[in-house]
Amino acid sequence: INSQDIVKSYLKRISETESDLNSFISVFEDYAIKRAKQVDDTIIRMKTISDLAGIPCSIKDNIMVEGFKTTCASKMMKDFIAPYDATVSKKLKEDGAIIIGKNNMDEFAMGSSNETSYFNSTKNPVDKSRVPGGSSGGSAASVASRQVLFSIASSTGGSVRQPASYCGVVGLKPTYGLISRYGLVSFASSLDQIGIITKNVEDCAIVLNSVSGNDKFDSTSINREKENYREYLIDNIKGMKIGIPREYFGSEVDERIREKVLEEIMFLERLGANIDEISLPTTEYALSAYYIISLVEASSNLGRFDGIRYGYRSDNYSSIEDLIIKNRSEGFGEEVKKRILIGNYFLSSSNYEKYYEKACKIRTLLKNEYENIFRKYDVLITPTTINLPFKLGSKESNGEYGHILDKLTTPANLVGIPAMTIPCGKIDNLPIGMQIMSNRLNEKAIFKIAYAYE
Ligand code: GLN
Repeated sequence: INSQDIVKSYLKRISETESDLNSFISVFEDYAIKRAKQVDDTIIRMKTISDLAGIPCSIKDNIMVEGFKTTCASKMMKDFIAPYDATVSKKLKEDGAIIIGKNNMDEFAMGSSNETSYFNSTKNPVDKSRVPGGSSGGSAASVASRQVLFSIASSTGGSVRQPASYCGVVGLKPTYGLISRYGLVSFASSLDQIGIITKNVEDCAIVLNSVSGNDKFDSTSINREKENYREYLIDNIKGMKIGIPREYFGSEVDERIREKVLEEIMFLERLGANIDEISLPTTEYALSAYYIISLVEASSNLGRFDGIRYGYRSDNYSSIEDLIIKNRSEGFGEEVKKRILIGNYFLSSSNYEKYYEKACKIRTLLKNEYENIFRKYDVLITPTTINLPFKLGSKESNGEYGHILDKLTTPANLVGIPAMTIPCGKIDNLPIGMQIMSNRLNEKAIFKIAYAYE
């Protein structure tokens, strides 16, 4: 079997399922087949073959692939063609992976249901009347429905783990700085991370091997020797210490999810891990801090979209000022505009101390608290989401209620630690996820636990 056959069979699968799912914004059929042929031709001449050679994958549409559109699922960027490759795209190409297309998402990665996309929502492959989660809903849906073998996505507050959990697949947000963000469209730079969505834990390790590593084009990129994450896929967790933070099992979490996750933790105890209940009290304030910090940074980052340097341009205007106002009012969707406005409000001189400064203090407290706990525990285990995937268009989709959906995932982004979700069973035939967090750069502990569990 060669790469061209593999890629063609995946393209066929996409054409059969895409009208139901809408998990892609663009699919590059001709390019993918051509690339597969090139890979086949080089493999013949090579002695060792990269793990990803000829493997079809997709990339969230806020990460650039040279020569193809990067829309961020926004009218603002609907015609923008990427002038260069993101570092992740470049690394995947070098390892022979075949990028088949760009995934649907919430507009500018703002949302938890994929319903803020300018290109219509993605459906959850497990139940098409339900959302796939967000903002990387297209990525999770395309892996869950076997349209691709893996997808590269982004997480600012949970956008890899929450959709992976809703679709029943594996999602990893690594340590801040482990994967270069060069070529990722910024949302909130102190939180943004590129992450990986796969069917299983081993695939996740293989993809992380390819896309991690230092990059001179990203000043936040960590400079250290590369690890081989596959080495941690060993079935032995005897004596590992697992903390169960009670703040992640509060009354907002669906009782059935709480019970199921606790039951699965008992399974890890039977495998030889030591389990303790612990407390991380500042976690209660993490969600508020996240929404202040992320909106403040977004209001500044999204200032560049004025329709002049690039982005949507209105053709009906009376002055330069009027042009910028029209470009931004017509180009951005409701959720994005709301966030820019609120971000500016938090930053205004009369509110700065009341909101932004306090949020930064909470973030420092949170960091210290988590750092301390990891002196005693290898990993923390919690549910990934507070609820099951919900119906498209329901109250969870929008407004103030929607934000609580991010309660269990935002702390890891604020602290900068790695966190993975793995499927841990079903309730009413809908998947649920178990979240595993560890200390900064201790992906190793996560892989060990996740692999042993799986
Ligand atoms: N759902 C969260 C938000 O809307 C997280 C988004 C993300 O991680 N990109 O802000």
